[in-house]
Amino acid sequence: MTDKKPKTCSVCGFPHYAKGLCKTHYSQRPERKAYKKAYSQRPERKAHMKAYHQRPEAKAYMKAYHQRPEVKAHKNAKIQTKKIVREYQALMLLKNPSRLAMLRLEALAEILGRDLEEWRTEEQKKVWI
Ligand SMILES: [Zn+2]
Repeated sequence: MTDKKPKTCSVCGFPHYAKGLCKTHYSQRPERKAYKKAYSQRPERKAHMKAYHQRPEAKAYMKAYHQRPEVKAHKNAKIQTKKIVREYQALMLLKNPSRLAMLRLEALAEILGRDLEEWRTEEQKKVWI
């Protein structure tokens, strides 16, 4: 008997699925994404999914799913993040941002968990310092 540690994902430490990764991280590899995209675009797959989504029980399930509070909350959070990203990107494009704009940018970068130093232009640095 060997007491080997159970394999885990090299990114997040979740249980191993394939190629040193968990199911989530394995499916996020570009090769895997390309395969899944090609697979779902096959005519027979498209027809199958269309038929599935037209069934009344599938429609009822999706309706109930989208009414779950956690699903609604997740959707709203995503919309909120998109708004923040849009504002962040708009502020990033400013050539001569005001100090207030820089403060706002700093706050947005913090929310998004981005490193502002990497992106800050020379002009922006002058305003900030
Ligand atoms: Zn993982």
